[in-house]
Amino acid sequence: MHSPKRTARPVARELLFGNLWEYDAAPESSPAFIDASYGLFIGGKWVAPKTRKTFDSISPRNEEKLSEIALAGAADVDAAYQAAAKAFPAWSKLPGSERAKYLFRIARLLQDRAREFAVAETLDGGKPIKESRDFDLPMAAAHFFYHAGWADKLNYVTPGRVLEPLGVVGQVIPWNFPLLMLAWKLAPALATGNTVVIKPAETTSITALKFASILQDAGLPPGVINIVTGAGDTGAAVVNHPLAAKIAFTGSTAVGKSIQRALAGTGKRLTLELGGKAANIVFEDAPIDQAVEGIINGIFFNQGHVCCAGSRLLVQESIANQVLSKLKIRMKSLRTGDPLDKNTDVGAINSRAQLDRIHELVASGVAEGAELYQPVCELPHKGFYFPPTLFSKVSQSHRIARDEIFGPVLSILTFRTPEEAIEKANNTHYGLSAGVWTDKGSLILKMSNELKAGVVWANSYNKFDPSSPFGGYKESGFGREGGKQGLLDYAKLKATF
Ligand code: NAP
Ligand code: MG
Repeated sequence: MHSPKRTARPVARELLFGNLWEYDAAPESSPAFIDASYGLFIGGKWVAPKTRKTFDSISPRNEEKLSEIALAGAADVDAAYQAAAKAFPAWSKLPGSERAKYLFRIARLLQDRAREFAVAETLDGGKPIKESRDFDLPMAAAHFFYHAGWADKLNYVTPGRVLEPLGVVGQVIPWNFPLLMLAWKLAPALATGNTVVIKPAETTSITALKFASILQDAGLPPGVINIVTGAGDTGAAVVNHPLAAKIAFTGSTAVGKSIQRALAGTGKRLTLELGGKAANIVFEDAPIDQAVEGIINGIFFNQGHVCCAGSRLLVQESIANQVLSKLKIRMKSLRTGDPLDKNTDVGAINSRAQLDRIHELVASGVAEGAELYQPVCELPHKGFYFPPTLFSKVSQSHRIARDEIFGPVLSILTFRTPEEAIEKANNTHYGLSAGVWTDKGSLILKMSNELKAGVVWANSYNKFDPSSPFGGYKESGFGREGGKQGLLDYAKLKATF
């Protein structure tokens, strides 16, 4: 057990450097090549929407209009499904080694244009350029590379069975990792021989539309991937189309539940990647400074717009004061502001609606009696911004400890024993991810076994790899993306004996 002698740790002291560490502005200068308007990408061609309607895509960085985007209605979604169905027989019959060539090409073309895509992603979605440049783009390319490697090995995934494609797959993705979620969805679908109709989120369609030019450059046969843009109604049309053999959805639990209801009895396959309220659990024997970095990354990465964000910090009571004071000091050095600046740590909130939701939940935390801390930081006057925020004195019944905030807001709770940590961590409808920080290997194994979460990170956080399956328990959804498990969610198994 944990020795009571270790409880009297000194709290962290702040080193004051004045203005010594101020950086000059370092804006990214590469052009993003965003077209003034985009149509729908159906059957390998750009087509005008039958609705004759468009919507504006703005940058949350400064609220300036970036592009005008086609709004797909039910007839457009139907055209996309028809194109995908037409492409399916030839695509699914191609030898896996041939399909792999397209996936390799797509990965290489993405790498070639990585900087341009990173800038577009940051302009459109608001995430810091250092994240789109160093995380989203390399990971998106890695998913295509990884699945290219699987395409000619589908007969060896499950001994005695071969994997066969399902047919046309409908995919609906969210706004927090627009290009990366697209890669997570498209790469396994293509590797297994399916064709696709995909809908990006309304506020972040631009990198998906730019991606169409990569498909053209890669020579992908027309209709294998079709991209339809629009909001929730377009998503519903994708989900409910009779030609869909499977629906893959990433988004909120509320919409996920409505899709599950709509699909019941249709025979369509379904995978859902939904919300989360992860516990990041720090024991008193953990390497505290590394844990503090992991906590900061866990909640402030991508402004906290992360389904697996470590939004509930569970810290052992004996070190709670020390961790809290170190976190406050560390938060003072986070730079919040223009996402196109290479020094920015916390960029713009994706949309005004999301900013309003964060304000509302933070106000509820204050009203319910939790203690708020925000470092002093000057936010840009235009655009959508929210400072890094920490709540202490949080109890499990507070909304900020239960609801997914999807913003840069951390709630701190304490515990005394591993059992109490497990009980509190599992006290949520969600079950997507968790973090455990301790020196003891046996405690890591015990926690990983007992935490109801699809992913448990030990002495690290937010580590991703295409070979590592990702997905939820409980109201965080079902099905996996990545690894062999992710492939199986895009295939039927046929016995070879
Ligand atoms: P959302 O409202 O559920 O939207 C997700 C996608 O579904 C968007 O493309 C959206 O379109 C579309 N959509 C909305 N209503 C629909 C309907 N009735 N039928 C079909 N599609 C519909 O979620 P969000 O607020 O954008 O995204 C944030 C949520 O996603 C969070 O809860 C987060 O945890 C979750 N998420 C989960 C994962 C994961 O892997 N588990 C990853 C990322 C995000 P529009 O946005 O264009 O309206
Ligand atoms: Mg936008």
